[in-house]
Amino acid sequence: MSYQHQYADGTHIHFPLGKVVCIGRNYAEHAHELNNPVPTEPLLFIKPGSCVVPAAGGFKIPSGRGSVHYETEIAVLLGKALSTQPSEEEVLDAISGFAPALDLTLRDVQARLKEKGLPWELAKSFDGACVLTPFVAASTFEDLAAIPLRLTLNGQVRQDDTSAKMLNPIVKTIQYMAGHFSLLAGDVIMTGTPAGVGALEPGDELILALPGAIQVETRVL
Ligand code: ZN
Repeated sequence: MSYQHQYADGTHIHFPLGKVVCIGRNYAEHAHELNNPVPTEPLLFIKPGSCVVPAAGGFKIPSGRGSVHYETEIAVLLGKALSTQPSEEEVLDAISGFAPALDLTLRDVQARLKEKGLPWELAKSFDGACVLTPFVAASTFEDLAAIPLRLTLNGQVRQDDTSAKMLNPIVKTIQYMAGHFSLLAGDVIMTGTPAGVGALEPGDELILALPGAIQVETRVL
């Protein structure tokens, strides 16, 4: 199904989907659960817009390429371009919304790539590798260091954390990204996954939530 940005209240979002810029290992407990070191500098990677699918109605996962892991993350929608060294105020002004989202990962493929020191695209950029829900307005959260995030999988809470645990807070992460390459209106920032990642199977039922703000039910087709 083709994807278009939208707000949870039905308000139209006029800018097109751009790229999805992600930060890896942004929660210490998640780095530890995969036996990865905690990075000293933000670890960035980019998913192309072509891999984004909406959560509504369910989503497909690849078969025959090893385990497919969910990583539930707070997604940030940008409504303005940012480049060079944006101030904190400029970053806050550019944020249009927040959503719970999935950074799907071919974990076995990623492990092989990591072993060889190769880039992660084969594990992170397949069609359907980014599942986005509608966004709630940026004004929903007064404190960006207190955004809750939860994944319920088949009735069990599997990831439940807040942005307070991020090693690089949201604004600093976006400042760092924009310091290295331009971010545009319609780009999505994925802010890293907390501990509790795991494999998905067809038929799994998921509830993605920023508790108190938005909750979206979806399933693996
Ligand atoms: Zn991730």
